[in-house]
Amino acid sequence: VFVSFEGGEGAGKTTHIRFLAETLEARGFEVVRLREPGGTAIGDKLRSIVLDPGNAAMCDACELLVYEAARAQIVEEVIKPALDRGAVVLCDRFFDSTTAYQAYGRGIDADFVRRANQFACQGVVPDRTILLVPPSTKDGLIRATKNDGADRLESAGVEFHERVRNAFAEIAADDPKRIRTVYSADKKSKTSQAVFAELADIFP
Ligand code: C5P
Ligand code: MG
Repeated sequence: VFVSFEGGEGAGKTTHIRFLAETLEARGFEVVRLREPGGTAIGDKLRSIVLDPGNAAMCDACELLVYEAARAQIVEEVIKPALDRGAVVLCDRFFDSTTAYQAYGRGIDADFVRRANQFACQGVVPDRTILLVPPSTKDGLIRATKNDGADRLESAGVEFHERVRNAFAEIAADDPKRIRTVYSADKKSKTSQAVFAELADIFP
């Protein structure tokens, strides 16, 4: 089973993946927890390049291809083998992030982004995607940058991140069977219950 978590900055993806992973592990599942970009040695190097605020000169096309390069590697090296042996894969971001950030956010041709996603994923699609939505874009950005400062993308300005937030809402509306929206305004325990509820048919 493959579940991805999506959403803008500071939505709580990391926290809720951890909660879900701990619960599923306690129930005896093998859980593989991943984040994008990253999750492989090559992917982690690509991640540091794409998130480095020092790389302000990176153009949009380069940015897209770096995310896709990291994705191609994690799909081939980690996700496919894990799914083949029956593990549960939980991924912090997957191709919906690229649709939101690079197509809607940056304005790269949406059809090209869709094909680039397909190329990198080799047919791997999450069985379910949890879209976590923080109370506001500003709140989320503050939460996301509080501990480790702003990465290159987080420095992009509130207007860009508003566009991304609206993009995620549209993407979710287009595919309501796969993508379930959970608002993370409430207490963490309430949010995690809502996450479980959206997975109840997969993990009864
Ligand atoms: O760990 P986090 O999800 O915050 O790191 C990924 C960063 O990369 C985010 O700041 C997000 O803005 C950015 N990103 C992006 N396009 C993607 C995936 C992530 O701009 N496709
Ligand atoms: Mg971030």
